[in-house]
Amino acid sequence: MTTIGFIGVGHMGGPMVRNLVAAGHAVSVFDLSEEALNFAVQAGAKAAASAAEAVRGADVGITMLPTGVEVRQALIGDGVMAAAAPGSLLLDCSTIDVETAQAMHVAAGEAGLVMVEAPVSGGTVGAEAGTLTFMCGGEADAFARARPILEGMGRTFIHCGGPGMGQAAKLCNNMVAAIGTLAISESFVMGEKLGLDTQTLYDVMSTSTATSWVLEHMCPVPGPVPTAPSSRDFKPGFAASLMLKDLRLAQAAARSAEASTPLGALAAALFGLHVNAGNGHLDTSSIIKLIEGNAD
Ligand code: NAD
Repeated sequence: MTTIGFIGVGHMGGPMVRNLVAAGHAVSVFDLSEEALNFAVQAGAKAAASAAEAVRGADVGITMLPTGVEVRQALIGDGVMAAAAPGSLLLDCSTIDVETAQAMHVAAGEAGLVMVEAPVSGGTVGAEAGTLTFMCGGEADAFARARPILEGMGRTFIHCGGPGMGQAAKLCNNMVAAIGTLAISESFVMGEKLGLDTQTLYDVMSTSTATSWVLEHMCPVPGPVPTAPSSRDFKPGFAASLMLKDLRLAQAAARSAEASTPLGALAAALFGLHVNAGNGHLDTSSIIKLIEGNAD
């Protein structure tokens, strides 16, 4: 049994904590939201009075927070690094900017801690089922130490390289997912205007060169994939606002690396319009409304 302090128990962190408890770990949790905290306590975790309190005396500290701002606040501003036991392991599973991720590795090293960033793919469904993919950045021995903990929450664990490379991989992955969602949406809207039946077009694309995870799980038209958000009025899933955040992080990363990403830039602009039109709370696949000209 490992003792774990877990900070940020929202849509993803809540079910991840439940799986860690089920795997036999003792988990102490902190969140600014009482509702989120209550969910984690019902899942078998112990509530802490602060982020620092959650990690005090723990073998491992985990953060699952919205952006780099909250991660920096929790780890440094709220004293998690200062409270963590020397030599203990910090895992940041949030999707954040590469620069902050790298800065957190440096700060952890200076505090005598071992750090791995481990952003995830698989969404809330993967968090609940314990089937997440973790894209890890950090030293190889730190990754080896993190792996048994990650095994309580996921199925696939990839060491992407040194500090920041887990976030870099996550941003590359999500840029493809966003561009793919737009491409699939365009094809369905065009197919419908040409008179094609939606199910027929799905049957063709899902067995042809157009197929992808996005098409098979998050098909933007209702019907062909009954479990897709499009079949439940685009209730997330993965909110369009979070996808926009990741696309903007990807653009910032591309600029810093002088990489040319024209499709990523266009995807960020289109998701920006969609979110500004009041659709940020809907699933990413709701971007088809913009393509249809039906954004409300
Ligand atoms: P969420 O908003 O549901 O959860 C974040 C939690 O952090 C909230 O409960 C909030 O109250 C808490 N919080 C914020 N600031 C805090 C602080 N300073 N101290 C303590 N608690 C604080 O978000 P989520 O959907 O769980 O996503 C978390 C991260 O995972 C994000 O970076 C997101 O991009 C990434 N992610 C999400 C999904 C998804 O499908 N939702 C998939 C992959 C990755």
